[in-house]
Amino acid sequence: MRRQSIQTKIVLPFLLLFAPISIFVPLITVELFAWKYSEQFIKETQGWLNVIMETGFIREPIEKVKQAYSVEVMIFSSDFTLNGSTLTDLPYDEQLRDNLIEVLRLKQVKESFQNEIDSPITQDVTLGGKHYKVFYRAVQLGRIYCLLRPMETIADAKRTLTLYMLGIAIVVTALVALISHRIGKNITEPIKDLVGFTEQVAEGNLEEQCEVKTHDEIGDLTIAFNQMTEELKQSRDKLIQAERLATAGKMSASFAHEIRNPLSSMRMLSQMLMQKPETSDEQQKSLQYILEEIERIDNIVKGLMDFASPTKLNLELQSLTPVLQSVLTLMEANLTHHQIELSLDLASDFPDFNFDADKIKQAFMNVVLNAMEAMPQGGTLTISTFQENEMVCIRVCDTGIGISEEDIEHLFEPFFTRKTKGTGLGLANVKRIVEEHNGTVEIASPLGEGTTVSLWLPMKLQD
Ligand code: ADP
Ligand code: MG
Repeated sequence: MRRQSIQTKIVLPFLLLFAPISIFVPLITVELFAWKYSEQFIKETQGWLNVIMETGFIREPIEKVKQAYSVEVMIFSSDFTLNGSTLTDLPYDEQLRDNLIEVLRLKQVKESFQNEIDSPITQDVTLGGKHYKVFYRAVQLGRIYCLLRPMETIADAKRTLTLYMLGIAIVVTALVALISHRIGKNITEPIKDLVGFTEQVAEGNLEEQCEVKTHDEIGDLTIAFNQMTEELKQSRDKLIQAERLATAGKMSASFAHEIRNPLSSMRMLSQMLMQKPETSDEQQKSLQYILEEIERIDNIVKGLMDFASPTKLNLELQSLTPVLQSVLTLMEANLTHHQIELSLDLASDFPDFNFDADKIKQAFMNVVLNAMEAMPQGGTLTISTFQENEMVCIRVCDTGIGISEEDIEHLFEPFFTRKTKGTGLGLANVKRIVEEHNGTVEIASPLGEGTTVSLWLPMKLQD
């Protein structure tokens, strides 16, 4: 079947219905009008004829009758000889007696007069190229009196009326076309938008949302579609992240060991060179720089190994506070060096629970390091622990630079970093460790108020 747009499907039936109606109704009206008018015309002329007969106007010269009624008059004797006529300018052959008998059918008329048929006798004839309606009367001595009334007025009226009616028909049809076009457009426009949008989505562009323009079924459809697109986007993003994790894992597993061995040789050799007395100050500086860079590579490799190694959790029933404290002791000097004030609020009243001390240490250290790095000009680091509904929370608040809204959703992606010397693996590892404990990580960074990271760990670990 041929493809038709919804617009066409709306406009076409309207036009098919209204176009014939608006043409045929006027035509029928014109015909009815002409019929009625002609009836009236006959009655009126018969009336005139009666008046002419009864008032003796008939004895006046026929030119007077012609003037009074705007009609033509012809009088024939009983043998059809033309006794008088106002039609003086007829062509020669039309004026001939036989022709007139033929055209005006005088013989039939005379017959009907003799049979005394009551109904008035009329006839349509053409004389001298003009149309007339002829009205006959029998007068004394068997003469026939003919009144010829021009029909132009009827024809003119009919023509004018037909033109008017056609004009109206065209206007009505155009109006119907216009209105149905508008209705169609109102309906199809939002559908077209939605179709365009679905094509975009099909091409993989899930970033945009379709504007909801109408509050009707199509509006509902648009809202539902937007929601679907949003969900699609989220699951696609998750998939991408999972894929990245898997790739990162594979890569790290195969490279980490290979890199670390030559790296430790390089570190050893550099240290040895540094200790040699013939090494100049300039060279010492360069070596120091090399050692720092080696340290950085080593950090990245360590992060990758942590990230890739799916080691089993080494769960032990133990107290959390000493574990956190041991990390803080390690970092104390560093904090003081950066002019960071430490505010501790570690709850001591909740019972021991099962967790892997090494991994929690690692996660906590990463969070504290991030907080420290966010406060290069110093600030306050607040660390608190508390219990809520069978969950333990380790909360680290800083008064640092905070995190922009667009960054927040990428924080846990491996290799996402805003630091020139960052690895982007810290938070990815934190999340993995906490999730291995069946916990969750929350990060909040209200504008200009620093950042709060909460690690939630369940007290009763389920498999
Ligand atoms: P890295 O520290 O190597 O950059 P992370 O995964 O630890 O990688 O952190 C990712 C990014 O998250 C950081 O680069 C930083 O932009 C942001 N971030 C994390 N913690 C904080 C914090 N406490 N304050 C501000 N930004 C933070
Ligand atoms: Mg970090």
